[in-house]
Amino acid sequence: MSGLLYIVSTPIGNLNDMTDRAKHTLAHCQLVAAEDTRVSKKLLQHFGISTPLMAFHDFSDDKAADALLEKVESGQHVALISDAGTPLISDPGFVLVKKAHDRSIRVVPIPGASALTTAVSVSGLPTHQFSFLGFLPPKQSQRVKALVALNQRAETLIFYEAPHRIVDSLADMVDVFGAEREACLARELTKTFETLKKAPLVELFEWVSLDSNQRKGEIVVVVEGAQAAGQQEALSDEAKQLAELLMNELPPKKASQIIASFYSLPKRAIYDFILSLKQ
Ligand code: SAM
Repeated sequence: MSGLLYIVSTPIGNLNDMTDRAKHTLAHCQLVAAEDTRVSKKLLQHFGISTPLMAFHDFSDDKAADALLEKVESGQHVALISDAGTPLISDPGFVLVKKAHDRSIRVVPIPGASALTTAVSVSGLPTHQFSFLGFLPPKQSQRVKALVALNQRAETLIFYEAPHRIVDSLADMVDVFGAEREACLARELTKTFETLKKAPLVELFEWVSLDSNQRKGEIVVVVEGAQAAGQQEALSDEAKQLAELLMNELPPKKASQIIASFYSLPKRAIYDFILSLKQ
């Protein structure tokens, strides 16, 4: 009988975010494949788990993935974890999971934290549609090219960024997306110095440039989509004033319906404007 391949999420900072299911799975499988065994050893020790660890930092190596899947096929239950958060989200594991499907091995998700969902859920930016872009290219010319390709995208955009590149990336976002596009910088989520700041891109750039503390730790940048940004600008002053009046009297949905039909404007734009006022 084949074993199972578990894809186990671990905390992104606060160890209390480790789920019971994650602890139970890691304790009861035969092997834990980890991006960095030194990091994961500490996590396992913290929870009193003694399952053997194996380094598996590069799943693009087909042979390593095949060898691990052979263990699963021989009956072992194997768990994949990354240093933090959900494996495969800007972390290794894709080739392994793809091959597991090809070999008809059952892949079992053990969900938990990811910086991506954690950041977007508190960003105050529209969440009905978003794209996750991972890390932008480190080279400026390529980064600008990538941003230009995203400039007209209507949905919310989510980027991971390294602390030593955050100022340069924000500067490029200001240049390409425009100074006034709303964004949210989410730093050190779930940790002691957790910081959230929602502001136009130019303000985030100035804030991070002037305060070196804001360039420390782990960072997610959430950027408003082009349509949302454009639509709010397109709202007339009268529509905005009416929104300010009605938002205290009516739920946002009802207020946006009334204003939209009165001024023939898109409901979504008014709804987002009211939400931005409430924040
Ligand atoms: N697999 C992880 C996940 O599910 O979020 C992401 C791994 S990726 C190699 C690491 C990047 O995720 C960091 O550079 C940062 O952009 C983001 N990140 C991870 N933990 C974070 C945290 N606590 N606060 C803010 N960003 C975080």
